[in-house]
Amino acid sequence: MVISVASYKGGVGKTTTAIHLAAYFQQLEPTLVLDGDLNRSSLRWAELGKLPFTVVDHRQAAMHISRYKHVIVDTQARPDDSDMKVLAGSCDLLVLPCTPDAISLQVLGDTVEALKKIGAENYRILLTIVPPRPNRDGEEAREYLTKAGLPLFAGSIRRIVAFQRAALEGVTVAEIDRVNLGWADYEAVGEYILKQYSSVAA
Ligand code: ADP
Repeated sequence: MVISVASYKGGVGKTTTAIHLAAYFQQLEPTLVLDGDLNRSSLRWAELGKLPFTVVDHRQAAMHISRYKHVIVDTQARPDDSDMKVLAGSCDLLVLPCTPDAISLQVLGDTVEALKKIGAENYRILLTIVPPRPNRDGEEAREYLTKAGLPLFAGSIRRIVAFQRAALEGVTVAEIDRVNLGWADYEAVGEYILKQYSSVAA
């Protein structure tokens, strides 16, 4: 299965999502992360050699890909519409992380418009960095996106500092947060993808 994680806007948890989905799929079968982002965030995360899967530059894909069952692509930041066409056309599922704030939702709207224009339907929105209650931003964003009829993962990714520490320490959030709520959030997304999309990819 090839899963691409893409966003028109930075700072929405694109790399964090790619790394944690890869960690989930690696538990099941060999998984490769392709870093296509000029910021090299996934490659930097992997630099300390503590991640349970391999991350390579996307330009090295041809050399590696045959050895893996699943490929997660941390795509280039701020793609234009033609990049989006290539992205959507070259994966089984395009995951669109979005934070629950007005600017992100607006940019997400542009992304979805671009996808609609090219007739792409293989995408799903993931609400990320969702602040804890009593803040209602996550719920409001979910209501807004649901009303707009957009495909949304049932689970969101909560905002916890453990994700930032995980990136600094070159590990997944499961290694940092003893309660493991952050990991449980990504695990639920991984399980859903596995159920919904692996038969499509097979
Ligand atoms: P992008 O790839 O979209 O630029 P990143 O994955 O690099 O986004 O995340 C941007 C920042 O937000 C990083 O500092 C990261 O550690 C932090 N972050 C990502 N997800 C979460 C989360 N669920 N909770 C708290 N901080 C997060």
